[in-house]
Amino acid sequence: MKYLFSEWKNVGKALKNKFIYLFLDYDGTLTPIARTPDIAVIPKKTKDLLLRLSNIPNCKVAIVSGRTLKDVSKRIGLRNIVYVGNHGFEIKGPKINFKSPLPPYYKRTLKEVKVKLEKNLSSFRGVFIEDKGFSLSVHYRMADKDDISSIKAGFYNTIFLYELGNDVQVKRGKMLLEVRPPVSWNKGEAVSWLLGRRSFARRSKKMKVMPVYIGDDVTDEDAFESLKDKGITIFVGKTNRTKARFYLKNTEEVAQFLEAILENPKTGILWRKKR
Ligand SMILES: [Mg+2]
Repeated sequence: MKYLFSEWKNVGKALKNKFIYLFLDYDGTLTPIARTPDIAVIPKKTKDLLLRLSNIPNCKVAIVSGRTLKDVSKRIGLRNIVYVGNHGFEIKGPKINFKSPLPPYYKRTLKEVKVKLEKNLSSFRGVFIEDKGFSLSVHYRMADKDDISSIKAGFYNTIFLYELGNDVQVKRGKMLLEVRPPVSWNKGEAVSWLLGRRSFARRSKKMKVMPVYIGDDVTDEDAFESLKDKGITIFVGKTNRTKARFYLKNTEEVAQFLEAILENPKTGILWRKKR
């Protein structure tokens, strides 16, 4: 994995005269990870960059988050952007309104699982169960460090039979465990689906498309995998266990990269309406 800014020459070349489709995760990518998800606010500077990028004719911006669609679109609050919520299960944007079909029993099962998790994890302080409609997130960032292994055990004991019966699927995230629908749909599939849309292909026809995906979490690996050999994949933070080709150190560097796309004449983007 290479540090993106030391490879800027090559990256700039790859972006030159291309239609850039920017896929950005939210938490840990655009905003620093917060102690609780409700206080993670996007910095004004980053929001301005997204606004500018989304108004350029040869650039499209999609936010790809594990948050609900409603939550993530409210947090960004810009119009000309595609919002992907619940790891791809809900997608909304200009001329897009998509909800992944789920098995009919799924919602009932999820409700049942939620009641059981609430009961079985109620003795731990700092555990918070977030109901995201399509999925449940069990956050334990605020819990006592000594309790974490017991919290995980409590979670897996509760979920075990459901997972075995393929009624739900479990995904791990940063200081959270997630119960999700038992279907193979994820951030990677959602990104491929967006890139393959006919209206998008029509719009970008005259230029080659260069997808760029930036993310910091295990759930972003599906997208890194699906864009392997097809786009520029960037991990935020440092790890040896990612499929991304490049890394940036933190959310500030992500903002710097977005700015560089806007400012660097090599990318082929000419920003005329600069304020
Ligand atoms: Mg993230």
